[in-house]
Amino acid sequence: KVTISPIGGAAEGQGAGLLVFFEDVTHLAEAGERRSEFVANVSHELRTPLTAIAGFIETLRGPARDDAEARDRFLEIMARETGRMNRLVDDLLSLARVEDVERMRPEADVDVAALLNRAVTGLAPQAAQRAVRLSVIGCDTVAMAPGDPDQLTQVFTNLIENSIKYGREAGQVEVRLERLEHAQLLRGPGLRIVVRDEGEGIDARHLGRLTERFYRVDSHRSRGMGGTGLGLAIVKHIVNRHRGRLRIESEPGQGSTFSVFLPTG
Ligand code: ADP
Repeated sequence: KVTISPIGGAAEGQGAGLLVFFEDVTHLAEAGERRSEFVANVSHELRTPLTAIAGFIETLRGPARDDAEARDRFLEIMARETGRMNRLVDDLLSLARVEDVERMRPEADVDVAALLNRAVTGLAPQAAQRAVRLSVIGCDTVAMAPGDPDQLTQVFTNLIENSIKYGREAGQVEVRLERLEHAQLLRGPGLRIVVRDEGEGIDARHLGRLTERFYRVDSHRSRGMGGTGLGLAIVKHIVNRHRGRLRIESEPGQGSTFSVFLPTG
């Protein structure tokens, strides 16, 4: 963007000058573009279930009015779609909260091992549904790090939930906590939380984009699993505000490993 202003008494006609300002507003334009893309995505994500629900209501009012079997089936789908909209709104609110850079960084120490155990316990029913075995390593003793307990719980829940969803059915998901005297990525002492599955894995060309809002490798599959496409974006923001690092490794056909590094010193 270039701004041109006349200077030096140009108005009085005594030899005019021009002052030219160069200001790089590329980032502003990009931010605006990203915002409209985001709004378009959110609208699309909300409209899809709404259209489905509206369609079923019409069918129930008309052709399927006296069909008890169809009614049960449609109500079931409508309940599932409203559930998805609820999750989307929850995730959007979480994202807005963690993107708010003004908010204070975590100061108090929390027991990361206890948070991991809690997240695993909360996801046991979901793991059972896919016959996935959750194996927890290194979480039987305290491991303190500065952090926000609710936000860290959300990180662990999102990662473990993904591994259950995208991991191998009847396979294993490993949740491991390591204490590191020196973590290279943190340039200091820290904790490494590893969530590993035996699923299909993720092709290398997707790895760099997984934490973008609404980025999915397979939209159909993600939606079928009730996903919002926001889980990893939330993870990335929370890890960043803890001055931590997120590392994603994957070998297609073998599985994926998500590592969260949290500084302790
Ligand atoms: P979603 O709600 O779609 O699961 P996420 O932001 O949590 O959204 O994940 C984004 C995408 O990353 C998913 O749609 C999926 O394609 C991929 N993904 C995430 N975790 C895994 C995993 N453990 N294994 C394979 N793919 C994964």
